[in-house]
Amino acid sequence: KANRVYNFNPGPAILPLEVLKEAQSELLNFNNSGMSVMEISHRSPEYDEVHNKAKADIKELMGLGDDYEVLFIQGGASTEFAMIPMNFALDGKKGNYVLSGSFSTKAYQEAEIQGVGVVAGSSKENNFRNIPKQDEIKLSADAAYLHICYNNTIYGTEYHYIPETHGVPLIADMSSDMLSRPLDFSRFSLIYAGVQKNLGPAGVTLVVVKKSFIENSPENIPTMLRYNTYSKKNSLYNTPPAFGIYMVGKVAAWIKKQGGLQAMAEKNAQKAALLYDAIDNSNGFYKGHADKDSRSFMNVTFRLANEELEAKFVAEAKKQQLCGIKGHRSVGGMRASIYNAMPYEGVKALADFMLKFKEENL
Ligand code: PMP
Repeated sequence: KANRVYNFNPGPAILPLEVLKEAQSELLNFNNSGMSVMEISHRSPEYDEVHNKAKADIKELMGLGDDYEVLFIQGGASTEFAMIPMNFALDGKKGNYVLSGSFSTKAYQEAEIQGVGVVAGSSKENNFRNIPKQDEIKLSADAAYLHICYNNTIYGTEYHYIPETHGVPLIADMSSDMLSRPLDFSRFSLIYAGVQKNLGPAGVTLVVVKKSFIENSPENIPTMLRYNTYSKKNSLYNTPPAFGIYMVGKVAAWIKKQGGLQAMAEKNAQKAALLYDAIDNSNGFYKGHADKDSRSFMNVTFRLANEELEAKFVAEAKKQQLCGIKGHRSVGGMRASIYNAMPYEGVKALADFMLKFKEENL
C-alpha cells in the first residue's frame, strides 16, 4: 500500500492510488515531451488533448449532450457562490436558496450581499439534520433560479430527490458528491463542484452548465466572473489550473474504468451501509447526526456519549491507520468521508474498529 493510511479526510481528500501512481510515472516526462504537464504551454497540442479529453469524459459519465458545456474555473466553489447571483439574478429577479447546511448558507449570503437573496426553504431549526422536502420548498414569484447544495459535507446529509421547480432554473453545489452516482443531470441548469473531494486536487472548480443558460452573460460584471468568458474560450481565456485539470481528467478516466457512475453508486451505497449499520446496531453507543431519510453516501457523521470518549476514538483509530475522522466543529463528533476513491476495505476496517471500540468502552 506504499505506506498509505485509510484517509477519511473531508477535502482535500483521498484520490485513487492508481491515478496518483500514473501521475507520478508521467511527472518528469509527460507524453514524450521531456517536460512535466506543469511545464508545458496551456496552448500546446499536448495540453489541448488533456483538457478536451477531461471535458468529454465528464460529459459522457454524466450522460449529457451538446446542449451542456463543461467549464474549468478557479477560486473554489466559494467563488461560484458570488458568480451565480451576479450572472443570473438579473432584471429585479431573486436568487432562491434552500438552506441545508453551512455551504448553502454561505451561498445565500453572497446573494444577500448583492441584495438578491431569498430563502426558499431551510432545515436550520433541526440543526441541519435533514434535507427539506419538496413541499417545504417555496419559490418566490420572482425567482431567477433555485440553488441547492446536494450533499452537505459538514452535516452528512444528501438530497435523495431532485426538487421540481416548474421551469425555474435549478442550480446545485455538488462539491462533495460530484460523479458519485448517476442522476438525471439534464434537470439542472448549472452544477458546480470544487474538485478537491471526489475529483482531484484543490484549485479547479468544475462547472457543468446548460449552454442556453449562459448565452447572454451580463457585460457589466468583471470578465473573469462572467460564465460565458469560459464557454466562449473553452476555459482557456487565461491560464487554467492545468495540472489540476490533468488530474481531474485522470480521475474521470478512472471512474469510467470502474464502470461509470452506476458502478460508483453501487460501491458507495455498500460502503455507506457498513457505517450506518454500525451506528444503527450499536444500541445508541454511536448516534448518527443526520435523519435517516437524509443520510449522505459520502460523509457519515456520528457522535459518541461525550467528548472525552470521542477524543479517545480518534486517537485509537489513528493507531489503526484510520485517519481524518474527527468531525467539523459545528457538529462535533466524527465524520468519515468515504468518497469514490475510498476502497471498501478501508470502510470495512473502520466499521470493524467501531464494533471493537464499542465493546471495549461500553
Ligand atoms: N460547497 C461544499 C458542499 C463544500 O463541501 C465546500 C468545501 N468544503 C465548499 C462548497 C467550498 O468550497 P471551496 O473551498 O472550493 O471554496
